[in-house]
Amino acid sequence: MWLDSTLISIEKETEITWRFVIKVHSDFKYIPGQFVQIKVNDLVRSYSISSYGLDGNIFELIIVKLEGGKMTNYLFENAQEGDDIQIKGPLGKFTLPETISGDILFICTGTGIAPFRSILQNIVNQKINHKNIYLIFGTREKKDILFLEEMESFEGLIKGYKYIPVLSRENWEGMRGYVHDQYLDLIKSNKLKDPIFYLCGWRDMIKEARGNLKELGYDSKKIKLEIYG
Ligand SMILES: Cc1cc2nc3c(=O)[nH]c(=O)nc-3n(C[C@H](O)[C@H](O)[C@H](O)COP(=O)(O)OP(=O)(O)OC[C@H]3O[C@@H](n4cnc5c(N)ncnc54)[C@H](O)[C@@H]3O)c2cc1C
Repeated sequence: MWLDSTLISIEKETEITWRFVIKVHSDFKYIPGQFVQIKVNDLVRSYSISSYGLDGNIFELIIVKLEGGKMTNYLFENAQEGDDIQIKGPLGKFTLPETISGDILFICTGTGIAPFRSILQNIVNQKINHKNIYLIFGTREKKDILFLEEMESFEGLIKGYKYIPVLSRENWEGMRGYVHDQYLDLIKSNKLKDPIFYLCGWRDMIKEARGNLKELGYDSKKIKLEIYG
């Protein structure tokens, strides 16, 4: 069932990654980590919900513009605040288990951070019991880092949370390289206790990470995937 909604705000996060805020005109409940489908002019695409806990059936999406992409071209070139939009959802099972018994590793690149931001905002508000949580976020340059201040601020709000941004194309004060170096280092350090890996983003990164983790002997049930395309 398509739900009538309005695009209430469009904000630039980076040059090519924008935040789209949507208000659904009916009751809308979801579990952090889930996604919605949006429909514009009969074009349908999926987007992870990137926020949690906003009042008034409102949620945010964080979307990157793709060269030649039909939906993203529409959203970045034509969409206006106040536009009607239809959404379907919530969908998906990329959510936390009911009881968290081991460490959690959120591994993502680019807008793959979306479901993790929603999950982390919920952890801050709900005081959910958990073990250590690592957020490994990869992108090319510092200007492309999404939600840097917010993700850093969670270090003071979520016990056992560690944020590891990593850049592949720029030297900076933080980590340099790919997300893979970071979770492999954590595994080697023997710090992780019964980890669950959540991988989110584009196919190549997920394929490589999943392959690495399977090779190290981790059970598929402990490797959760949300593949964007
Ligand atoms: C469950 C789920 C959740 C998603 N959540 C998000 C999200 O939160 N944010 C977000 O930005 N996207 C997300 N996506 C991706 C999104 O659904 C669209 O695929 C994306 O926005 C491109 O749509 P488009 O119509 O602009 O491009 P299309 O017209 O569908 O595709 C354009 C071309 O680009 C290629 N392409 C697709 N992805 C890439 C890429 N990363 N790099 C290079 N080429 C590519 C396609 O294969 C195609 O050839 C999600 C996808 C899924 C399945």
